[in-house]
Amino acid sequence: MFDVEKIRKDFPVLREKVNGKPLAYLDSAATSQRPKQVIEAVGRFYSTYNANVHRGLYGIAEEATLRYEEARGKVKLFINAPDTREIIFTKNTTECSNVIMRGWGEKFVKKGDKVVTTILEHHSNFVPWQQLAKRVGAKFEVVGIGADGTLDEAELERALRGAKLFAFSAASNVTGTLNDTRKLCRLARENGVVSVVDGAQSVPSMPTDVKRMGCDFLTFSGHKMLAPFGVGVLYGRAELLERMDPFMYGSEMIRSVTRTKSEWSELPYKFEAGTPDVAAVIGIGVAIDYLKRLGMGNVLAHERSLVSYVLKELAAVGGLEIIGPADAKKRAALVAFTLKGVHPHDVAAMLAEDGVCVRSGHHCAMPLHERLGRPASTRASVYLYNKNAEIDMLVESLQRVKRAFG
Ligand code: PMP
Repeated sequence: MFDVEKIRKDFPVLREKVNGKPLAYLDSAATSQRPKQVIEAVGRFYSTYNANVHRGLYGIAEEATLRYEEARGKVKLFINAPDTREIIFTKNTTECSNVIMRGWGEKFVKKGDKVVTTILEHHSNFVPWQQLAKRVGAKFEVVGIGADGTLDEAELERALRGAKLFAFSAASNVTGTLNDTRKLCRLARENGVVSVVDGAQSVPSMPTDVKRMGCDFLTFSGHKMLAPFGVGVLYGRAELLERMDPFMYGSEMIRSVTRTKSEWSELPYKFEAGTPDVAAVIGIGVAIDYLKRLGMGNVLAHERSLVSYVLKELAAVGGLEIIGPADAKKRAALVAFTLKGVHPHDVAAMLAEDGVCVRSGHHCAMPLHERLGRPASTRASVYLYNKNAEIDMLVESLQRVKRAFG
């Protein structure tokens, strides 16, 4: 059984109080909280076997390397990747997009080619492709959405014809739209287009299977899935990674250097330049253990039930305009909204006084907010440790905002 009260005991931050009220953390789409198992694993690394990886021949260096590589194996299984060589540790999702943009995009996308993304994207999965198109003189096409925030499929099919690369998110961090990743990757493949899936909002919350999805690349961040800050994952099909150029040079990614030329290490090290955040990588392994113990299907079911509750309760507040699909099954674990006549920052600031942590602003998705016809929104997001009582706090606090501005 999914025992949320038991789970909450693993998250020390959730015991914090704000102005004497319990903390209602509803901003996991920005970053998740961490369970004590992850916090302790990081502490254990620094206090008992802190050493750099892949270098030392002494005991604690060997242990650090073993745990680091063990984490890679856990990530591989977690997303059902064929090979650990296809799992590259980066800092975050943003770095992943840039590695693909510089390593694959700049090498294979030529003048006059077409690069496609969607209006749903976070800047991290929008700007790299926009800039790639500018750098190489390619066309940049942005597929739009319908009124309910779902992708315009007719427009997408047109856009994919003759394209080189298609980058899209599995789940939008604003509308919550869940894209059918398997279908979109198949469409890309049928058109000979390389697919890049931004999994920042999906991988933490639902089962992920890259073989089934059929993507060429998948990117995500550890900090949104219980792991420490400082580790992201780039999955890429080995065949593509082999052909790509590294984006950063130095340290672990070097095989040999002479005065005139250099050769790169084999995968995945070719893309892991410099000393990595070893503690964060070990932490993502422990975070995955934690998620697997709960079961990703159960995490998804719990979040769906919370999102249904959020949608129902927010509708009852009145005066709120909810962004994105009305059906909880069609959205990620977040709900963005606007309150007529009140700036989203004022909403978030008043909620903060009541201990309710939400995000306001453009959520790094300015083109999307422009399309939605509003410069900003307030976003409440939930994760495996949230419960309905925290949604009740959100609703109560929103009533207070309405009274204050009413
Ligand atoms: N894509 C999406 C959909 C996101 O929600 C985020 C984080 N808000 C990112 C990319 C960027 O993630 P990071 O800041 O960890 O690089």
